Amino acid sequence: MHRTRFYVDGGWVEPAGSERQPVISPSTEEPVGEVPVAVAADMDRAVAAARAAFDDGPWPRLSPAERADVLARAAELLAKREADIAGITTDEMGCAVSQAPQAQTGLVARTFAFYADLLRTHDFERPVVAGDRAAIVAQVPVGVVAAIVPWNAPVTLAAWKTAPALAAGCTVVVKPPPEAPLSNFVLAEALHEAGVPAGVVNVVPGGREVGQHLVTHPGVDKVAFTGSTEAGKRIMALCADRMTRVSLELGGKSAAVVLDDADLATVIPQIVGAGMHLSGQVCGAQTRVLVPRSRYDEVVDAAAAAASGITVGDPHDPATFVGPLVAERQRTRVEGYVGGAVDDGASVAAGGRRPPHLSRGWYVEPTILAGVDNSMRVAQEEIFGPVLCVIPHDGDDDAVRLANDSRFGLTGGVWTGDPARGLAVARRLRTGVATVNRNSPPFPLVPFGGFKESGMGRELGPEGLQNFLETRTIGVPPSLLEG
Ligand code: NAD
Repeated sequence: MHRTRFYVDGGWVEPAGSERQPVISPSTEEPVGEVPVAVAADMDRAVAAARAAFDDGPWPRLSPAERADVLARAAELLAKREADIAGITTDEMGCAVSQAPQAQTGLVARTFAFYADLLRTHDFERPVVAGDRAAIVAQVPVGVVAAIVPWNAPVTLAAWKTAPALAAGCTVVVKPPPEAPLSNFVLAEALHEAGVPAGVVNVVPGGREVGQHLVTHPGVDKVAFTGSTEAGKRIMALCADRMTRVSLELGGKSAAVVLDDADLATVIPQIVGAGMHLSGQVCGAQTRVLVPRSRYDEVVDAAAAAASGITVGDPHDPATFVGPLVAERQRTRVEGYVGGAVDDGASVAAGGRRPPHLSRGWYVEPTILAGVDNSMRVAQEEIFGPVLCVIPHDGDDDAVRLANDSRFGLTGGVWTGDPARGLAVARRLRTGVATVNRNSPPFPLVPFGGFKESGMGRELGPEGLQNFLETRTIGVPPSLLEG
């Protein structure tokens, strides 16, 4: 867990600076590892390697089938490293090990395998002939990609960018976050072993400043970013200057809509469990629970019981469901939101405190807030912690209005005894992802991403490949395409 070098140009290189940064375990508050602190010169070197690999190297010029073979090998190797990735993320960002398959490892190898398969059937070129006019419409790789990932699912979100970027024929500089920089070294090792050519993938963890250096670098053609809406807006503005292509997966304040025919006894524990997954540090978490006014008290009681029954503790213990928050500042932020909600008139139906049995670590109990109005700050801003707000609605139309009354639009869930009615409501949600009677985590075949301030573009699915392609039309004499 003590890393001394960065992965650049197909090998492990010494950092430009001499500073080191500890990685702190959120459960013990003790160092679990160390990484070099990246400076601008490290990013310059990584971008130069990616640029050379794109402009002069073999990768963009390989056939899709040849690239698919490398991605398929990477998928096999990453599948073998899942336990390593799970262990490291548990140490570095506090993910409960029981939750790691869902958040940290389940969509890494599978994403590479999906894009390997897609490459074997995807048409990158389309011939068009219309009378005396003809053209080849080609999808070509966008170029050098800066992949910026947050700490909550660092390898998963790096895979969601790297796999389709490589499939497209791009080269990549991955910047993992300073809070959780270690797990992506495993990604670098696996891609190296899979035979990804030198310079095609480079991994340099670092903070906001070097991140900004990377996204404004003249050698970068495209930024693929996951993180907060605030940082996403800043990056989009920075990218405007050079019209660097940008895709953004940002925050959310998503709603779970419970209709009046739902079976509360089964539905509420599922909603609460999903909302507390990864201590609520999930962009798509459905943290506004919209419930029929006539059943409001019943739901609050059921939600409070479900939250109180959740096992909070050491993330290394397989019995733990909710571990700590990633950092002390994140716990302060969550506590601030809970306190602010109470000041605004809400009440704490469960949790709301640090667990008394845990003397170390940045924990907050699974928390249910009642008496919340959708206009309150706690219902409009992303908390990124284990806090659900229960909000009453007056029927399907009102529930849809409340669900859509948000500057975000990432996910939405509908819970009902009648799936067809649920689907009709789901279609009215202004979100990039919606579900009926399930907390479906993403899967590689379908796109994931948000409306409104939750982002731009989609990751995963065939749509995720489009993030890394430009369209080029080449007009040609029709005779070239005929016969
Ligand atoms: P953050 O926005 O502060 O940082 C995310 C990443 O961007 C980090 O690697 C950080 O170093 C980098 N960064 C920040 N500012 C930058 C800048 N100006 N230029 C270049 N790089 C910059 O977010 P965080 O605290 O790391 O993560 C939590 C946030 O991420 C939450 O708001 C959450 O909703 C969001 N998130 C969204 C998704 C999604 O798929 N929509 C997934 C996970 C997290």
